[in-house]
Amino acid sequence: MIAILKHGVTQEQTNHLVAWLKRMNLDVHISQGEEVTVLGLIGDTSRVDMELLSSLEIVDSVKRVSEPFKQANRKFHPEDTVIRVGDAVFGGGSFAMIAGPCSVESEEQIIEVATAVKEAGAQVLRGGAFKPRTSPYAFQGLKDEGIRLLLEAKKATGLPIVTEIMTITALDLFDEVDIIQVGARNMQNFDLLKELGKTHKPILLKRGLANTLQELLMSAEYIMSEGNEQVILCERGIRTFETYTRNTLDLSAVPVLHELTHLPVVVDPSHATGKARLVPSMAAAAAAAGADGIMVEVHNNPSRALCDGAQSITPAQFAKLSAQLTAIRGVLQ
Ligand code: PEP
Ligand code: MN
Repeated sequence: MIAILKHGVTQEQTNHLVAWLKRMNLDVHISQGEEVTVLGLIGDTSRVDMELLSSLEIVDSVKRVSEPFKQANRKFHPEDTVIRVGDAVFGGGSFAMIAGPCSVESEEQIIEVATAVKEAGAQVLRGGAFKPRTSPYAFQGLKDEGIRLLLEAKKATGLPIVTEIMTITALDLFDEVDIIQVGARNMQNFDLLKELGKTHKPILLKRGLANTLQELLMSAEYIMSEGNEQVILCERGIRTFETYTRNTLDLSAVPVLHELTHLPVVVDPSHATGKARLVPSMAAAAAAAGADGIMVEVHNNPSRALCDGAQSITPAQFAKLSAQLTAIRGVLQ
């Protein structure tokens, strides 16, 4: 349920109402926008007398929220959530670029790619240290050493870093990681989500291989319900009957999610297509569709990559793409 307050309501009046609602065992989420204040009521609202609440002098209107996601719901929080990490701004009309290799392979590799993508305009460096691979015999990532090398690249370039967590027992290693990624395969690892909800770091939550947008939002809700409101959603393609591309990029997820939620939405055209030559056009389409950013795999030597070389673009291709995206963003504004 949401209660929209009248314009000009004082802080004291709001506090008074919130205290009254909390006495009914409800959690109250306050969204103080420039224009309007919205109170989101979470919990068993069946006993709230809507008529009574609507009749209060400071209340403009009261509505039931039928969707099961509450804190992630745009009705609870009409303005975009804006998440700032270094120079990157996710949400609120900005566009952020995350770039880097699928996995960290060596100091030389990560520093070279980090330097190149920064030069081309990326604001965040990606790189997997813990890799969720389909085969147990495939390269599993450099693990702790991978995180250490990412931190070296962060020191060398000033770029904040994002890397994937696979198990909560590794959390101590993520102290200096700027954004923690939850991969597609862990989107519904609810215990992991709940623990990440207790941290204060932005979480990049990737859509599961066969999950609906509502399921993605319910996973965001798991993180938010524990107190961490900094969730960045990522569309990375879903499983369909099409086999030509690695996955099928569901671009309509961008405007749909913008309708449903205030959380920023980025698109990963690399895992969506699995083919480097398709990445620039899908990244451009994502920008045109209004995405809040992209995450792209970039490798200094894709044919030698230990993971996902076929979908990795080179630093030179990334630089060209970055210029194209700037032009597309200019047209949209
Ligand atoms: C990744 O970003 O490195 C990754 C493994 O992606 P996904 O979880 O989307 O497959
Ligand atoms: Mn990858």
